[in-house]
Amino acid sequence: MATLGNRKNTADIIQRHQFDFRKKYGQNFLIDNGILEKIIESAQITREDCILEIGPGIGTMTQRLAEEADEVVAVEIDKNLIPILDETLAGYENVTIINEDILKVDVHRIVDEHGGKPLKVVANLPYYITTPIIMMLFEKHVPLHSVTVMVQKEVADRMQVGPGTKDYGALSLAVQYYAKPELITKVPAACFMPRPNVDSAVIRLTRYEEPPVKADDEEWLFAVIRASFNQRRKTLANGLANAGNLALGRQQVEETLAGMGLPVTVRGEALTLEQFCILSNRLLKIRA
Ligand code: SAM
Repeated sequence: MATLGNRKNTADIIQRHQFDFRKKYGQNFLIDNGILEKIIESAQITREDCILEIGPGIGTMTQRLAEEADEVVAVEIDKNLIPILDETLAGYENVTIINEDILKVDVHRIVDEHGGKPLKVVANLPYYITTPIIMMLFEKHVPLHSVTVMVQKEVADRMQVGPGTKDYGALSLAVQYYAKPELITKVPAACFMPRPNVDSAVIRLTRYEEPPVKADDEEWLFAVIRASFNQRRKTLANGLANAGNLALGRQQVEETLAGMGLPVTVRGEALTLEQFCILSNRLLKIRA
């Protein structure tokens, strides 16, 4: 079958199936074969790999993934795309399509049903739920090797940056706690149909086998991080003391910061991941 990664073939198949794009599902299909090949190459797929693709659309990337990997499981929410996928993936025996919302799928079960190997996630993500998808994969401890995804350029920036920059926040810390982020390439809006209002980027997150820092309680660490960035222009002490869910007193917070050699006026964006781990471990002890 001719590649779908261009404007003409994508338009033809969409027209033939009278498919209407649904904005609410973040449907911007990739129509640039060069970018497609770059994603495939950077995902470092081998014949042993099981790939999870989130949102296959009309199957443009799915075809190439199926050619490189052992198996592909593709989860697509829009039932109107299923007849198209049945057609474009007809010749591929190693693809399983699941017509579901990825946030409701039991990804651990997918892993178990496909040999138990850590997954490689490869996707042109729906941008309206990029962060929940990434957080779900990491926080649920899905066995993962890497996540190679197209995201909004600003989101890729947030995933990569360190302390002291305006993009640094809860997403940067969450991603960097679990994985090493690498920007693969920027992608202009013209590479999609329909054209989105933002530029995009491909980023690869390689899961750490041994995380560089470890919190005593991950859930508590991320609750502390979220509270620290809740009120961006306020101090870290204010964010933590005002977060009802943490149940911490202002004095406890200020003493803990002082014990770490930090001023009480410090802001969340000044702390490294390691400092957040130390802070959350100490606050956990006080709270217990
Ligand atoms: N992979 C295709 C491509 O590159 O051309 C399509 C990418 S498009 C940006 C995002 C895809 O995710 C769409 O097919 C959309 O229907 C699907 N999608 C949106 N929300 C989803 C969800 N919650 N679960 C699974 N798929 C979803």
